[in-house]
Amino acid sequence: MKPDHLPPARPDLAEILAQVHDHVRPLIGQGKVASYIPRLASVPIDRFGMAIATLDGELFATGDADELFSIQSISKVFTLTLALEALGGDLWKRVGREPSGNPFNSLVQLERERGIPRNPLINAGAHVIADVILSSSATAREDLLGFVRDRADNPAIIMDEDVAQSERDAGFRNCALVNFIRSFHNLDNDVERVLDFYFHQCALQMNCMDLARAFLYLANRGVCQRSGVPVIKADRARRINALMMTCGTYDASGEFAFRVGLPAKSGVGGGIVAVVPNAMSVVVWSPGLDDKGNSLAGAAALERFSELTGFSVF
Ligand code: GLN
Repeated sequence: MKPDHLPPARPDLAEILAQVHDHVRPLIGQGKVASYIPRLASVPIDRFGMAIATLDGELFATGDADELFSIQSISKVFTLTLALEALGGDLWKRVGREPSGNPFNSLVQLERERGIPRNPLINAGAHVIADVILSSSATAREDLLGFVRDRADNPAIIMDEDVAQSERDAGFRNCALVNFIRSFHNLDNDVERVLDFYFHQCALQMNCMDLARAFLYLANRGVCQRSGVPVIKADRARRINALMMTCGTYDASGEFAFRVGLPAKSGVGGGIVAVVPNAMSVVVWSPGLDDKGNSLAGAAALERFSELTGFSVF
């Protein structure tokens, strides 16, 4: 007989999602939508969706899990994957691997650190990553879209042109960052091309279920869960998870590791993706952001999820 102090092999994930949703109900609608990108300012703040995809092929969802949203900085994980495949370890000559401790769109460290961004998951790092991808392919944007569609197993995924244009119109900080990096010779392509690619990656539109499926390769040592084909080498998948843990929620990454203890990546569209290594990916979306640009109800939901399941890398 099994001793009764042992947890079940896997908790009832549908029940866990229902409990998490109930727990965060009072927080849904709190915080602020990302109004600095005008097209995102009109997203209804009262939305909440959550989805889990497991390595045994199951999918669980609650709330607005099938509603499309702008994945924004979550895309930085996909582009990092492509850039690592393109450049291998040489990538780390051009971008660091330390948490920045600064807001995602900050310029201050770049001056002191001579145009080498702290990590690939802040905006400056993502611009260098975009440059690497542009140098390695003449069809960079199509490659990224194809990669994301394959990962999510959904050929209908698009980049929302209105969001990309809206970001371009208001993208003064990103323009400054790209030009600044260029002045330190850490960018090979034309600044407009880098910005165009970056704004389009941020404008990828997906729902919680798409994203949950799309992130399974990082829970599965780099291997596609559906086909069994490697997407990225196991040691690179491990490194991407490490970077998500230390840098994925910007200057809240320490707090996030403390509260949730899972590799995660957030975006100002209100999405957060978390990886439970060797088990599942968990995605939450709620557009109200805290002052660091992370979904307020989303972070609370992931914290509750890890409390209820005991899933954490620690
Ligand atoms: N597109 C956003 C920006 O560049 C992405 C930031 C984010 O999601 N944290 O400002």
